[in-house]
Amino acid sequence: MIGDTLKRFAQLASIRSRLILAFSALLGLLLALSVMASQRLETLGASMHEFVDQPARLALLAERANQHSQYAAIQLLRLLQTPERDRRIPLYAQMDAAMTASDAAIASLAQADNRAYPQAHIAQVTELRRRYGALFQETVELIEIQGLTQARAHFERQTDAALKALLDETLSLTARQQALMNLEVERFEQSASGTRLQIVAITASALLLGALLALLISRSIVIPIGEAVAVAETIAAGHYNERIPHGRGPEVQVLLRALALMRRNIVIREERITRLAYVDSLTGLPNRAHFMEALATASAGEHGALVILNIDRFAPINNALGHAVGDRMLGEIAARLRACVATPHLVARLGGDEFAMLYKGSDRSASAGHIQMILDALRRPMRLDGQRLDIDASLGVVFYPDDGNDPTALLRRADLAIKAAKRRHDSFAFAAELEDVVQHEQLTLLGEMRDALVRNDFVIYYQPKLHLADARISGVEALLRWQHPLRGLIAPDLFIPFAEQTGFIREITPWLIREVVGHAAQWRRDGVELVASLNISALDLLNPALIDGLQRLLIQTSLPAEMLCLEITESALMDDPERAHEHLLALARLGVKLSIDDYGAGHASLAYVRTLPVHELKIDRSFITRVDQQPKSAAIVRSTIVLCRELGLSVVAEGVETASELEWLQVNHCDLAQGFGIGRPMPVHELYGWLAISHAGLAGTAAGRPALQVESDSKTV
Ligand code: C2E
Ligand code: CA
Ligand code: CA
Repeated sequence: MIGDTLKRFAQLASIRSRLILAFSALLGLLLALSVMASQRLETLGASMHEFVDQPARLALLAERANQHSQYAAIQLLRLLQTPERDRRIPLYAQMDAAMTASDAAIASLAQADNRAYPQAHIAQVTELRRRYGALFQETVELIEIQGLTQARAHFERQTDAALKALLDETLSLTARQQALMNLEVERFEQSASGTRLQIVAITASALLLGALLALLISRSIVIPIGEAVAVAETIAAGHYNERIPHGRGPEVQVLLRALALMRRNIVIREERITRLAYVDSLTGLPNRAHFMEALATASAGEHGALVILNIDRFAPINNALGHAVGDRMLGEIAARLRACVATPHLVARLGGDEFAMLYKGSDRSASAGHIQMILDALRRPMRLDGQRLDIDASLGVVFYPDDGNDPTALLRRADLAIKAAKRRHDSFAFAAELEDVVQHEQLTLLGEMRDALVRNDFVIYYQPKLHLADARISGVEALLRWQHPLRGLIAPDLFIPFAEQTGFIREITPWLIREVVGHAAQWRRDGVELVASLNISALDLLNPALIDGLQRLLIQTSLPAEMLCLEITESALMDDPERAHEHLLALARLGVKLSIDDYGAGHASLAYVRTLPVHELKIDRSFITRVDQQPKSAAIVRSTIVLCRELGLSVVAEGVETASELEWLQVNHCDLAQGFGIGRPMPVHELYGWLAISHAGLAGTAAGRPALQVESDSKTV
């Protein structure tokens, strides 16, 4: 019952009131202790007084009675020796006085409040005194009537004995009193030590009680605070669903309520942050981080498909129509994708014009249906800003775990598949197919590439670049092939991506540069003015040795730097944009020409290209194919040409295959054209012969239009 009340009190009372209560209780205890101790001491003093005072007074009285009686006896003895009467008179007076004093003492003794004194003793003393008084009187009377001799005899016979008896009695009284006093002192000492024990016991219990109180109070404060600390710790650990106790005592309750509020706000804020961190703000789709996490979880478990989607020609559309339209287009694409990707599958925007789909549990046959659905959804015409837009996309597909289960590797392989799809002008490609060669023979391939470099099995083919204004071949692009002893001539698509992946490209490119610079220097010596272009990959661009090596080579061969052009794809710039930019600047300072390859296939915008120290822009083949028939491609290429002219960049159209494409480019003031329609890539020793024939042909055209060698007989791959 009391325990319950205490518990309730501990739950309700504030820490302050608990402390006040505890200290008041302690103070009260101490006060009670001191009051009690002083009271005990006081009674002790009083009883000591009582014990000692009374017996001492009684002993004094007995002693006094004894002394006076003795004195009176001495006077009597002197009287008995004094024959002269007149000398006896003063002695009588002194005797009387002594007897009176003795009587008074005995009377006081009789009257005294005397617990320890038996009245019988007092009566005995009084009686003895009375007897002695009577005999004394008789002795005195005998002195005066019968003379000293009779009196002396009487004294010796009777008075002396009575005196002795009286003296003995009073002495025994004194002794008794003394003994009594000793007894009292002993009793007093006992009582004092009892009091001391009591005080010690009370002090000890007060201390014990105080300690108990302190313990209880500190527990009643520490435990609820400990609860609050535990709550704070669970919040810190990110467990937001644990129950928060109601708490004991108002302060702790307030603290716990504050913690609960704090937790609620943290949850809200974290949700907001997570939303920002995991959701793409433009489309509202999950973003790359979200997707990668989902992919990591999915690929660690069962099987499924990862599809990456890249919008074709997004950058030029974005440039031509403006970013606001581009953003709306992305929003519309996101909505269409969301509509055709249902849970548990996932669609996300990875960035730019790249989207990704995760099809859980999907296999190759199921994915064909998914791909078709996506393409159908995207190809439905879109109207934005009153303009009709036809969207198309390239898809790369990989399967986990068949193609791997590392999310980054899966993504990279899907990316490679997209590139392959774009290159092949297909809507989609499966990573597994395209890397089959590489997959199975990767290690041997790497060893073989090393051997190829040593044995000089890599061959450089040159593809002409036609300067449209004066119908002259002004340059060539070096394109690598591998003359394999068993497989024959291998196209770069089949080994360059692998060389880039393994880093082996860093060994190939320096060799390539040496060869190309050597060829270009030779052409110059032969009086053939050709700018030699060559392709360098991201790894080459970021390689600091490239710039120094190139500079040395140019000095050695005395080739003017502007006779060399380096083609770089925009994606190569994206790996490490800052360092890439730095190296581009250094290369530009050397004086070599720089060209952006495959423009439009990636995300780079003209606004971005403008910030780079480049001289040339090569429009991707996908825009040039049937440019003369496709109004959208035409609009894009046309606006790109116009913008490049304004930016002082020369424009190269890649993949020109037909006469009408070439004519369209010429009419629209494109600077340079390259393609099978002009000339296929050829080995270096065929170049002069081809140039001779083609220049002759060019000179023969009436309107100065370039002659087209559609399907020339030069060897190509
Ligand atoms: P690229 O730099 O865009 O090279 C142009 C590619 O388009 C060449 O393919 C060329 O043969 C092809 N081409 C040219 N005109 C036409 C045409 O009218 N129609 C069609 N369908 N294709 C045309 P190739 O030689 O197979 O090279 C493929 C890619 O391999 C190159 O694309 C380039 O990215 C890479 N590559 C080639 N040689 C090298 C090299 O030495 N170093 C590096 N890093 N990459 C290289
Ligand atoms: Ca190129
Ligand atoms: Ca290209």
